[in-house]
Amino acid sequence: MEEILNPSEMVLPVVPIRDGIVFPGTEMILTFGRQRSVSAIEAGETRGKRVILVMQRNPNVNDPTPSDLYSIATVGEIVQMMKNEGEINALVRGVAKVEILSYEAVEPFFVGRAITIADATEEDEETKALFNHLTNELRQAVKLGKTMDFLTFMNIMSGVSPQLLSHQVAGVLDIKPNERQELLEMTSIKARLEKEITYLSREVKILELEKKIANKTQEKFDKNVREQVLRERMKTIEKELGEDDGNKEYKELADKIKKAGMPEDVRLKAEKELSRLIQMSQYNPESSYVRAYMDWLVELPWAVASPNNVVIADAEQVLDHDHYGLKKIKERILEYLAVMKLRSAAAHEVKDIRQKPKAAPTILCFVGPPGVGKTSIGKSIARSLGRKFVKMSLGGIRDEAEIRGHRRTYVGALPGRIIQGIKQAGTKNPVFMLDEIDKVGTDFRGDPSAALLEALDPEQNYSFSDHYLEVPFDLSDVFFITTCNVLDTIPPALRDRLEVIHFPGYTEEEKFHIGRDFLFEKEREIHGVPVNTVNLTDKGLYEIIRQYTREAGVRNLEREIATIFRKVAKKIADVAGKRPAFTMTPDVLHEYLGPTKFTSMLAEKKDEVGMSTGLAWTEAGGDILFIECALMPGRGTLTLTGQLGDVMKESATAAMSYVRSRWKLLGLPEKFFQKIDVHVHVPEGAVPKDGPSAGAAIATAIVSALTKIPTHRTIAMTGEITLRGRVLEIGGVKEKVIAAHRAGISTVILPKNNKKDLEDIPKSVLTDLKFHFADHMDEVLALALTKPLTKKK
Ligand code: ADP
Repeated sequence: MEEILNPSEMVLPVVPIRDGIVFPGTEMILTFGRQRSVSAIEAGETRGKRVILVMQRNPNVNDPTPSDLYSIATVGEIVQMMKNEGEINALVRGVAKVEILSYEAVEPFFVGRAITIADATEEDEETKALFNHLTNELRQAVKLGKTMDFLTFMNIMSGVSPQLLSHQVAGVLDIKPNERQELLEMTSIKARLEKEITYLSREVKILELEKKIANKTQEKFDKNVREQVLRERMKTIEKELGEDDGNKEYKELADKIKKAGMPEDVRLKAEKELSRLIQMSQYNPESSYVRAYMDWLVELPWAVASPNNVVIADAEQVLDHDHYGLKKIKERILEYLAVMKLRSAAAHEVKDIRQKPKAAPTILCFVGPPGVGKTSIGKSIARSLGRKFVKMSLGGIRDEAEIRGHRRTYVGALPGRIIQGIKQAGTKNPVFMLDEIDKVGTDFRGDPSAALLEALDPEQNYSFSDHYLEVPFDLSDVFFITTCNVLDTIPPALRDRLEVIHFPGYTEEEKFHIGRDFLFEKEREIHGVPVNTVNLTDKGLYEIIRQYTREAGVRNLEREIATIFRKVAKKIADVAGKRPAFTMTPDVLHEYLGPTKFTSMLAEKKDEVGMSTGLAWTEAGGDILFIECALMPGRGTLTLTGQLGDVMKESATAAMSYVRSRWKLLGLPEKFFQKIDVHVHVPEGAVPKDGPSAGAAIATAIVSALTKIPTHRTIAMTGEITLRGRVLEIGGVKEKVIAAHRAGISTVILPKNNKKDLEDIPKSVLTDLKFHFADHMDEVLALALTKPLTKKK
């Protein structure tokens, strides 16, 4: 940068500038268009390339006079110039600050006499500090986006004098022309630096503010743009999914509410939920819950019912058509239906639902082992009444919510099984079978049986409240049928309400008829095997019943018959034209069903010491039990094994006490038990056994073991015994007798008081078996042991 000249006088062309100052030590490109200026520059070009550059007081004056110009100005050197259609572009460099003392000429251009003015240079600490401060401010300003010539900036930063810095900065400050002129006129560098710092820090502040605003606007702009883009995208997706028309869905729901035939309060609730749903954003996760809830509300059969016209004679026909035997059961069911019919006719007269006598005062409960036709009778009832049939298993339910539903606040909440069943049925008066109510448990999650009772109880179930549904549902038209294998485990409150119908299990002959007349045809159709392709001989069918199944019901029988058809189907499926026929005699059965699964249990068994044959009644129906008793040296302990229940253990202990007290009669030494241990075992330990009715059989086994007298294997017994040896009445006689018959027992010993139960037993069984009725253990022993006892004298 060129040094500034010493003070001296000069006469030079003067060029007015509208609003700019070329500070000493700075360069600037200027355009001169006015004739006077062009002439002055051209003149200056020839006179040492120097001119005086001076600012107009008012930039808008086109043809200024000397009085329009400031008096403090700069001497500039024309570094380069270019003429262009009457205009001149020139790069000028400020050389020195001057004061125009007078004007020597005005035409054709101004010529002025001027004197250079020197700045007061004070190189002290303060100047240095001001200098530093100003450079920092400038750096900051540039960083914030102040626009200035990059070269100038680099120049300043690479180190200049305070004076030059003040000039440089004065040229780039964003200030008014008169303020710039003021800076030029100042002769104190310090004062100038100070002033410039004020200007520059104001600029920095403004720049900062601008930047902040710019950022904010950018953010705001970005956010707006983002939202808009997302919203557009969402619309496209919705359109793709065909969901854009939310209104349509709401309209449909409103329509469904109208058509559902809901009771008044339910309708109000549904409408309220709907308006809640409409107000909700589609993207609110709760809306899907509300929607699911609405679906349940509108889809329940509030007003849909099958016609209620029971014709007892028709019902009888249907039941007979679908089932073999079960005479007593069918009779009971028809009676029940008749009562129901009369009651509902009476109920028709009463308008108020709460005063309505219920269609049935109690709930049917079918009790019996699996496969005895409980479900299929239920289906027949539905068919005969022209109603829908639904079945829900309650096995393993421990949670009240399974029956009554979860509250809607739970994630994944659903109504309970009752309401689910109703929805499945699609009518409000289906035949509703609740399976396995004996398997309903109770724990900390509430008592499901209480909820069940509320659903079943005709006194309460016209407004059954499901937690999920929140509105009551009228179950009073539902025909509930419950089923279970045993009654014992049903809570008493519930059992009281049940009208129990026992399904005792089938005899061999009944199974034969069911197999021949029902299951065979049913399975043939299911497997698509043409008529007359399979000929199952009577002997063959008996063989299946005896050697391939051992059950109270006919489930396995059905399965075995199905197996035959499956195998036959495979054989004939590819045969075109006339197909071969297959005759199922006992000899060929193993080809289809494999080796026999059960051999007659008693066939090869001999009469043995320490063994007796008992009759038991389990969940699977009646069965025979072989009770074993072993003696060993010991101290009179009684060990019981074979998964015996508490009651059975007690009856074993009682049997032992009876035996001990009868030592004399049994011909035993008085203190025989002090030297021996007795172990009673009931095989097939995997099956839990309980009940008192094995008492007589256990006592017999123990006596046989002690006296070494074998028992007749084909004599089976049942009966509870007292310590004195009295034989008490027991339950399940029919099932037990049928089981004994099935197992090939010849003689059955029953308690005397059970004589009446023989009435129920099918004729065929009665004729095959011999019956004895015992009042006392002595009679039992006399029959069961192969030799009479020798009394101890
Ligand atoms: P459960 O419900 O008692 O376990 P199911 O009703 O399922 O037994 O009966 C099993 C099969 O046996 C069904 O196919 C049923 O139709 C048939 N069945 C049972 N008892 C009879 C019967 N008395 N007459 C005709 N078929 C029967």
